[in-house]
Amino acid sequence: MEGLRIFLMALSHGSGFRAAWREARAVQVKHHLRAGITLAGGLLAAIFVLSSVLTGAEMMAVSVNGQVIGYVNDEAEYASIVQSAKEKISKENGGTELIIQDADISLAPKFVPGNEEAIAEAAVSEDQLAETLLEENVIKTNVYTLNVEGQEVATFGSLSEATETLNGIVEEFEPQEAVEPAEGAFVEEVAIESKTSDLEVVTELDDAETAKEHLLNGSTEKKVYAVSRGDTIEEIAALLGVTVEQIALDNPELNLNNLKEGDLIKFQASAPLVHYETSGVETVIEEIPFETEEQKSEDLLVGERETLSEGIPGKRLVTRNVVRVNGDLTDVEEISSEVLEEPVSEIVLVGTKPRMFDGGGDGPLGLPLASWTLTRSVGNGHTGADMCAPQGTPIYAAEGGTVTFIGMPYGAYGNFLKIDHGGGLETWYAHCDTINVSEGDQVARGQQIATVGITGRATAYHLHFEVRVNGAVQEPMSWLSGNYAVPAPAATETETTETPAE
Ligand SMILES: [Zn+2]
Repeated sequence: MEGLRIFLMALSHGSGFRAAWREARAVQVKHHLRAGITLAGGLLAAIFVLSSVLTGAEMMAVSVNGQVIGYVNDEAEYASIVQSAKEKISKENGGTELIIQDADISLAPKFVPGNEEAIAEAAVSEDQLAETLLEENVIKTNVYTLNVEGQEVATFGSLSEATETLNGIVEEFEPQEAVEPAEGAFVEEVAIESKTSDLEVVTELDDAETAKEHLLNGSTEKKVYAVSRGDTIEEIAALLGVTVEQIALDNPELNLNNLKEGDLIKFQASAPLVHYETSGVETVIEEIPFETEEQKSEDLLVGERETLSEGIPGKRLVTRNVVRVNGDLTDVEEISSEVLEEPVSEIVLVGTKPRMFDGGGDGPLGLPLASWTLTRSVGNGHTGADMCAPQGTPIYAAEGGTVTFIGMPYGAYGNFLKIDHGGGLETWYAHCDTINVSEGDQVARGQQIATVGITGRATAYHLHFEVRVNGAVQEPMSWLSGNYAVPAPAATETETTETPAE
């Protein structure tokens, strides 16, 4: 409004009002013209703006977690975009069944102003929706959990995998056809439950096979193994499925290098999480074990055995009540039985011919050590020969016979064993480091039975070797050399009055 300003300036100057007015008026007219043009332009602009406002569109606003992320034309388009977004996410997650909570995503009518281009820009795409749904973590998935006694033990993407797992166990342990009635049930409370979970769980889902393995072996229980004759620690570890180191940790009180029959080894065994129990009546043909009859034979040496005739097991028809847990028979109650075939006993000849005088070499007894230094003989309360040799030197049976005793009968003898050669002749071996045979073993002359040690009352590594006839102490060296005397029958000592060995 330059014209008006000039007019006011003229007024303030106070010089000739009319002249100033005229002058100003001329300028003002010019400026009115300009103002008119400006006004028209403004009006046009206003009309243009107004027309833009009016050219919007009625659309539907899509909100995720309360935030508008874009617009769709109508509910049909909304449904289609949501479906496409879900399919896209599902495909990226192994075909998982997806859930979108109604509360997390919503649709509301909204007037969207603007031209076609602006409206197109406001439209939400399925990619954009999928991305937002993932970002906002509103996508959930439906999973099926397998619960044992209320504890979740496996999670599946589908109900069919959960039931397949349980059916797999039932099929494996189902009663055989012969069992009537074929009934079975899980001992534990086992249930399949459906639940909504975050999408991340998809990477941790179980399959029926691994879940079944877990249900049958996923737990542990403490067990005890009783050592049998001849077991080595390596064999036991392999049998129990644990390492030798672990056995050592669990059994600090045991000497694993010198296990004895009946030693108890504690270990952790894998155990099932579920137990499928079946029960019913079954009729089976069972074997009747045969007996073994021993017949003495003077033709065989002591310690020798020969099978005269093989045993044949019998057969019987048994009807019984049975209970099985995970396939293992846990309870049997016989109802009736009928013998179909009687067993035939095995006949075994057992040698009685004394071995004591048929030994080769210089004397009737073989050498218990390959070489030694004699440090003490029989006499002055000492009942054997002390034969010095390094630790671990093999000790051989002086004659064939039966191992009748292994143990630590009198502390002084340490690890100790006796061999009965028949005819009243025995050899005793004391202070052993290790013993390689077990009670009841038949041993041959010259067979290694132990190693030299320092156990019991001993001050150096040596074998305390005794020879006894009907319990009476002999001079061992003469039995080894051949220069032995037939024992005097009177001098019988009992084991319990034995003088401690040295
Ligand atoms: Zn001695």
